[in-house]
Order: sequence, then structure tokens, then C-alpha cells
Amino acid sequence: MVARTDELKTELRALVGADNLIDGGDALEALSKDFYWYSPVLRRQLDGKRADMAARPGSMEELRAVVAACWRARVPVVARGAGTGNYGQCVPLYGGVVIDFSRLDRILSLDGGVARVEAGARLGTIEAEARKSGWELRCMPSTWVKSTMGGFLCGGSGGIGSITWGGINAPGNVKSVAMLTCEEEPRLIRLEEAESLKALHAYGTTGLMVEVEMRLAPKVDYDQLILSAPDWDRLLDWTDAAARRLEWRKRLVTQFEWPIPSYFKPLARHLRAGEPVSFLLIDRAQTPEVVASASSAGVDCVFQKPLADPPRPPFITDYTWNHTTLWAIKADPTVTYIQAGFGPGFRGQFAELRRRFPGEILLHLEWTAGNAKMMRGNAVWMNPDEVVVGGIPLVFFRSEGRLNEILACCEEIGVFIANPHTVHLEEGGRHPNIADKRAFKERVDPRALLNPGKMKTYPVNPFAREPAAT
Ligand SMILES: Cc1cc2nc3c(=O)[nH]c(=O)nc-3n(C[C@H](O)[C@H](O)[C@H](O)COP(=O)(O)OP(=O)(O)OC[C@H]3O[C@@H](n4cnc5c(N)ncnc54)[C@H](O)[C@@H]3O)c2cc1C
Repeated sequence: MVARTDELKTELRALVGADNLIDGGDALEALSKDFYWYSPVLRRQLDGKRADMAARPGSMEELRAVVAACWRARVPVVARGAGTGNYGQCVPLYGGVVIDFSRLDRILSLDGGVARVEAGARLGTIEAEARKSGWELRCMPSTWVKSTMGGFLCGGSGGIGSITWGGINAPGNVKSVAMLTCEEEPRLIRLEEAESLKALHAYGTTGLMVEVEMRLAPKVDYDQLILSAPDWDRLLDWTDAAARRLEWRKRLVTQFEWPIPSYFKPLARHLRAGEPVSFLLIDRAQTPEVVASASSAGVDCVFQKPLADPPRPPFITDYTWNHTTLWAIKADPTVTYIQAGFGPGFRGQFAELRRRFPGEILLHLEWTAGNAKMMRGNAVWMNPDEVVVGGIPLVFFRSEGRLNEILACCEEIGVFIANPHTVHLEEGGRHPNIADKRAFKERVDPRALLNPGKMKTYPVNPFAREPAAT
């Protein structure tokens, strides 16, 4: 086994150059990890996992040659963008080769409201370039400065912008993806429009994403607002109504209960002790109307700053989506999280969770557009009833058993959960098309080498001691 690994290292070093083949030390350790440590459950499962080597191909030809060599050597192949995933998505469970996409990062074109990019292109770079020509990304994670297009589409779901455009799965957002197969002679397969769903949020188990066409939105100049009120319900009523005001052009609608705002140390001087807050990105031209509406509802604007163009900190997005959890863990390492989608009766669901788990859950809400929106040219129309209240509530971790009780309660009361405490993609997201994903994997990964162990329902895992679940 060691001899085979050594041979592969020599072969890959010759292909990508010595500087781009990492085979030990802290650098390999770092390239084998993501932010799985948010979860005490995954920390226990994944802490010792590491790749045997990482390769950084710098061209399509090098990438093909690296994949073919891995195929011949029958080793696991795990793609990596910026490594900001949360569920050990790019942590290799059985060693093998991490393919780091950071050198495959070209923006190929930004014509006609479509960004055509290599998978390793950073979202922050794409956003900055798109804004120069009057466009912006439709949706991006709060890690947008650092994370890659390929990593977002293969590991993420949505975020900033999803209040208007939905997430990566929403019809029309992804125009096409080009996937490289893992075979003796790797082939490129282009998936257009809804076909691309076979590759989205699949953790790189259904091919290596090499190129993406992502539709853009006309750019808007935003203000960043923080709104504060003495009580949760008053703020919730106003924020929920604001999220459903379709004439307000928004990129973010978030609400936090106290003490979550106390974790945001750099914002301390703007925040009022004990008060819940909402964060909004809103078309600057509409700020006066929004602030007046809040004020008449007894909600005060305590922070207002334009979002710089080209983008430059401060970004209030740094406190939202799964950044919130990061600030909380920094302040209190016993904090972990769940990812939830609430129903139309969300107020009742909040009350039930508080009743059953008093003092154990803190609400962090994110509003998004459901998938039933309609596209007309570059604008989006939706029904206010299609706005969905989701979020990433914080949980004070007591034990794995207690965490499972919270997850079971959510299921019982109709709260959708994308479980962030598992490495299995089927449990970490919504996959109405898992059968399609499995069938596509059969076509592109005949030796089941791509991120083995992550697609739990795939019947073949040559590296597992136990057969995969069916
Ligand atoms: C602080 C914080 C905040 C976050 N906020 C959000 C958020 O708002 N919204 C959200 O959706 N997610 C969020 N996440 C999760 C994560 O940031 C996103 O999923 C992000 O887009 C991942 O991008 P990445 O380049 O770091 O991907 P990685 O972590 O490197 O990879 C993610 C997955 O995609 C696979 N992959 C990467 N590149 C390719 C490729 N070229 N081909 C095939 N497979 C590939 C990897 O194998 C892995 O399974 C957050 C995470 C953190 C730590």
C-alpha cells in the first residue's frame, strides 16, 4: 500500500510540479479539514482523518492527468475549494488524494448577465468583477469573500441574496455546470439548467465540477442596516412583514435573539444590551422608507452603512448565516447549531421549541424566497406567501443524545432539518432527486472513488469495512 502511495506521489509530482504536490506536515493537515469542528459529533468522528497527499493542478490537462492517475491507482479522490464547508464535506474519510482547485480559478466571461467561471474562482472575486459591469451574484454564502464557486455549488445551499433569488437549487440560478468524470480517460459532461441539480450539493461525489455558468442579477447599491427593538415579537412582526414586502429590493433579512448579538464583539458599540436585532441589506434608495416603517412599528435603526462598491469591509454579512455560529463558538465553545426550515406556523414552532428546551436553543432566523418564484427577464416576482422563514438556531450542547432529542422534536412539530452533525449528504440537505444523483454517479464514477462514504445510499464503497446502507 505504501509503495503504491509513493508511486502515485512521484507520478503526481511530475504532473503538477513539486510546489503543487503536498504530501505531509501542517499544509496537508489543513488541506484535509474544513469547519466540521462546529459539530461536537463530527469532531469526534473526523479529528484523525487526513489525505495521503494533495495536488493542485493548474490546467484542465493537468487535472485530467491527475484524475486518471488516481483512477489507475484506485485511490479516493476528494475535491476541495476553500475548505469552508461545515460537515466534513471535503474531509477524506479513507485517505487518498485531495484535489485543490485553487489554481483553476479563472473568470472566463461575464457577458449578458451570466458568469462563466472555472470552479476554483472565488465568489468574492466574481462579485467584485461582476459589479464593475453592472451585475452581482444572485446568491452567495456568508463566506463569499473566500469560498469558491465549485465549493458553493457542491457543498453550500444559499445565503446572501436568497431572500430575492432563492438558493442554488432555485430554477434558473445555475445555467450549466461541466463535470469531469473519474475514469481511465476522464470525460467532460455538461449539465444544463435543471439537469445540473444532479451535481449540486453532492459533495463532489457525482463528478468534479470544472466550469460553471451562473446567472447574475442586475447590481443594486445597498445599505447595511441593523434594527433593534425591546422585544422579540415586535421585531419579528416587523422583520417578517419587511421580508414579504416584494417592492423592497433586499439581499438579506436576518433576525437574532439576545444574547446572540452580544457575541458580535466588533459591533458592541452599536447594539443595545438585552435587545434582539435584525440585519438587512436593502436598496439604498429605499432606506428612508424602510427606516420610517420600522420606526412607526417601534423598531429603531441603530446602524446604517453603505455596502462599498467595489466590496470593502465592514460587511454585516460577516455576522449572518453560518458566521453567526462562528461568533457564538468563539464566545462560548459549548455552543453548536442546527439548520432549520420553519413552516407557515413558525411562531408556534418557536414557542414549542422554547417550551420543550428552555434555555437550550437561541433563535437565529434567515428569510429566503421559496422556489415557486417566477422569472421575468432579469427580475423576479414571487408571492409573499412563498417567503420562507429558516435559520441556523444555536444550541447549547449537552450530549449527543440531547441533540438528537432536539432534532427529533423538530421533525415531530414539522420543522425541516438539514442535519449538520452528519457526513452523509442525504441527511445534510434536501435531496428530492437522490435517485438521479445516484444514477449519475454510476455513469461518472465507475470505481466509486469520488469522496467515498459521503453518499450513504450509494451501494458501492470499495474502502468501507461495512457495505453502504441502501
Ligand atoms: C463561517 C461559515 C459561514 C457559512 N455560511 C454559509 C452560507 O451562508 N451559505 C451556505 O450555503 N454555506 C455556508 N457555509 C458553508 C460553506 O462556506 C459553503 O458551502 C461554501 O460555499 C463552500 O465553499 P468552499 O469553496 O469553501 O468549498 P469546500 O469546503 O472546499 O467544499 C465543499 C464541498 O464541495 C466539494 N467541492 C469543492 N470544489 C469542488 C469541485 N470543483 N468539484 C466537485 N466538488 C467540489 C468538496 O469536496 C466538498 O464536499 C458557511 C461555512 C462557514 C464556515
